[in-house]
This record gives sequence, structure tokens and C-alpha cells, in this order.
Amino acid sequence: MAGIYIHYPFCKSRCYYCDFYTITDSSLKPPFYEALLYEISLRKDFLKQEPIETIYFGGGTPSLLDPAKVNQVLETIHKHFTVVDLPEITIEINPDDVSKYYAKQLNQTQVNRVSLGIQAFYNYHLRLMNRRHKVMGALKAVDILQAEGYDNISIDLIYGLPEMTKAEWEKTLNKAVKMNIQHISAYHLTYEEGTVFDKLRKNGTLIPPDEDISLWQFNTMTDFLENNDFIQYEISNFGKMGRFSKHNINYWQNKPYLGLGPAAHSFDGESRYWNISDISKYLRIERKNDDIREKEILTASDRFNEYLMTGLRTYWGIDIAHIEQHFPDKNSDGLLKTIGKYIESGHIKAEGNKYYLTRKGMFISDKITAELFV
Ligand code: SF4
Repeated sequence: MAGIYIHYPFCKSRCYYCDFYTITDSSLKPPFYEALLYEISLRKDFLKQEPIETIYFGGGTPSLLDPAKVNQVLETIHKHFTVVDLPEITIEINPDDVSKYYAKQLNQTQVNRVSLGIQAFYNYHLRLMNRRHKVMGALKAVDILQAEGYDNISIDLIYGLPEMTKAEWEKTLNKAVKMNIQHISAYHLTYEEGTVFDKLRKNGTLIPPDEDISLWQFNTMTDFLENNDFIQYEISNFGKMGRFSKHNINYWQNKPYLGLGPAAHSFDGESRYWNISDISKYLRIERKNDDIREKEILTASDRFNEYLMTGLRTYWGIDIAHIEQHFPDKNSDGLLKTIGKYIESGHIKAEGNKYYLTRKGMFISDKITAELFV
């Protein structure tokens, strides 16, 4: 099984924390769309006839793409790939783009999962991040989509915002749960190089919260969501039973995927590829073909490290039997020694051959996985 990711790079405005490859020049939408359809046909053999079980429209803001065009993209994918019956098809949506008309049009497509970038339930948090929607718009968007029959709705939230109070975070979580949605992705704010937030932090205008506040927010979120029937199946992802993101799980389980559009990444089981993060070069795809793509062949150590990193972040953990079978030249005794240290400190727990991060471990997952890497 495999997945397809489509990077729709257009946004109406830039959020201050975002370092994704996006552009605001909407005059490039028509040529981009033609190049995207061309790229689908160009890459038709990339997944070696593996059936496609998930398709994901991300970005950027793919809710700026007319649903009729979403349909045409899906039809083109069906024409060139084998797609399973009832694939999971997700689109990321900016709440500001949802009207009754949009929801009805979207319902005419095969999209069966929507992911709304709600991020916060206070207008001053949204303004701080330069989000273009308001809280009322987010509430209305979810109502409209639910009235249209969408029952697989995910929302994104951001915590660790400067000066966010405990009460604000608790109310944010409460409001999220009351929306009767099926999935929540919640990320701690990060200050990525080159973003507006990065500059504001460096010049002292934005002061990140202390680590104990971030830890409290993470623990509060995890307890609260688990008490409300959400399962934490990855450090930042919570889903109701049967509503986990199949697309993300495929990434974490190292299944192959094809990324289309500028800056999109692909994986064929052995190598990673990434399209150039440059729309003008991407638009020349018909003349340049593979020149728009770079490639990295993964070594056995790269694949081993990825298995550790993605496995430990998830509900399914890592399995020593899997390591001994798939990475026989890796020293599992050395790995177990380091794992043992973290079991003693309460950061990792064991169940038979399997190992998982504890809540305490999740909070410092990057440090732990870096120590386990070969
Ligand atoms: S809308 Fe999404 S992709 Fe666009 S700038 Fe904001 S966070 Fe980034």
C-alpha cells in the first residue's frame, strides 16, 4: 500500500510561525495546476503499481483550489495509478475558506476527511500568529462541514504560545472537544529559522514560555484528551478509535509515498526524493523532467534511525524482533543498554520485545532518539 501527497503551495497571507514552502502570488495558480497534472502522469511508475490507499492535499492552503479542480486531480490520479476502493482522501482547509457553497462543492468530490487549521480559540492568539481567520469563523466552518455530513474532521492546535495562560489552554482544549470532531493534531510552537517569529524571538519581542509551562500544557492536553475518548497514537496526534490518520501512519510505518508539487517529498522504499522548493523551476517541469527533483539513497543506518525515530514517537513503539530481522548488522545489545538507562529514569517503558516512550519520555523524544541513533 502507498500514499500520494499533493503540495498546493498558495496561501493568501503568511503566518508568522510557518516555514513551509508557500507563495502568495495567485497569478501562478493556473500554470501550477497544469504542471501538477503533468507531474501526476510523469510519476505514474514511481510507486511500482502499489495500490494507493491515502491521498492528502496539503500546503499551503489547498482549500484555495476549486473543488472541481480537486476532482480533476483525483481523476488524473485514478487514471495513472491503482487506487483502492474507498481510499482516505484528506484536504487541509483554512476555516476562512469554508462557506456552505464550498462545503457542498467539496462534498461532490471523493474527499472524505478534512483537516482544519484552527490553531487557537482566542482572536488575539490568532492575530499574534497572523492567521487570517477568526474564532467565530472556525466554529462556523466546523458546523457547516458537519451539516454537510463530514464525520472525519481533524483540527490543528498550537500550544506553547508566548504568555498563553493555563486557563486559556484549558479553555482551548475544552472548546476543541466540544466541537465533536474526530481528530486533533497539536504542536508546540517552534521558532523556525527565517520566520517572523524567529526574528521576534531573537530581538526579544517574543519570549517563549519556560519549559515547565510547556510541560504542564503537554500533560494537561494529554490527560484531557485521553479523558475525552481521544487516543494519543503519536506524540502530537490524537484520534478517536477508528479515526487515526491513515496517511500519517503510512509515513511512520515507512510505506512508500509520492509527493507532487514544489517542495513535496517522496519515498520509494529505498530512497528519498524532494522536488525543488521553487515554483518557477517547478513550472518548467514539462521541459526539465527529473531536474526538478533531488534524491538521497538511504543507507541501512538511515533506515534504522528512521525506524527508531518514527516508531518511538507512536503508539506502536519499536520492536527488537523487527530490528533483529530487518537490521541484523545493528548492535541490539548496545541499543538495549541505552534503552535500559531510560527505562530506569522513567522515560521508556517495556512490554516484552517492545519499547515505548512514556509521557515523560515524549517530552524529550528528540534527545532520546538522538542518543539511540547509530
Ligand atoms: S496558511 Fe498554513 S501553509 Fe499558509 S502560511 Fe499559514 S501555516 Fe503556512
